[in-house]
Amino acid sequence: MATRKPLVVGNWKMNLDHREATYFVQKLAWLLRDAHFDYDDCDIALLPPFTSIRSVQVLVDADKLNIRYGAQTVSVTAQGAFTGDVSADMLSALGCTYVLVGHSERRRYYADDDALLVDQVRAVLAAGMTPILCVGEGYEERREGIELDYAVGQVDDITRDLSEEDAAKLIVAYEPVWAIGTGLVATPQSAQDAAAAIRQHFTHIYSAETAQKIRILYGGSVTASNATLLMNEAHDMDGFLVGGASLQAEEFASIIRLTL
Ligand code: PEP
Repeated sequence: MATRKPLVVGNWKMNLDHREATYFVQKLAWLLRDAHFDYDDCDIALLPPFTSIRSVQVLVDADKLNIRYGAQTVSVTAQGAFTGDVSADMLSALGCTYVLVGHSERRRYYADDDALLVDQVRAVLAAGMTPILCVGEGYEERREGIELDYAVGQVDDITRDLSEEDAAKLIVAYEPVWAIGTGLVATPQSAQDAAAAIRQHFTHIYSAETAQKIRILYGGSVTASNATLLMNEAHDMDGFLVGGASLQAEEFASIIRLTL
């Protein structure tokens, strides 16, 4: 039987500067305290832009908040003449726990390809952090009815050469591209089907024991209005990767509470 702890991750994308991040974290902590939130029941994480990570860290450390944080992408090189890049060790030194790998916006706007994503997963793991690997089909694949094969294929493309020990540390976010930022949400059944297919893949490649350890999130227009239905009916899903709805502390706190 799986004993995976639910996880709710807020992907702020290129929103909330360091002052807004400070205000957000203070408010979120207050809302969760006010709701007598039991931090042992759910993991919470924020993925700010690079420039806001330190502000989140300062508050989390000062108030001993049980909120984790991380980054939205990472360099695959350790250091040196790579203008604009931020290394995995730099993120780890800031206390980051998670790094997104392969978000559809990165794949689309920056042409992050499989070879890069494989190296990112390795860099994140080597720095002692957890990659959150994003996969999911677009409109085309869904129309053709190949969405499960497509998402599982993306997982395989990036994780094929990972040892079982490393694979067990992964988090996968199933995010159908047509659902990201559109207000369109996967049905609980299709979120469940995708999560089950991804877990089945890990069972096949590694073992049932390892597959049961891997947390699988759903992402794509999650809000406080649809979180309960998705969580109750998609049993292989362990929480959410939230974009737009993670920018308002009230709504994000509601999603966290509804995930329990
Ligand atoms: C995302 O950016 O990963 C995401 C799921 O965005 P949204 O919740 O806004 O659809």
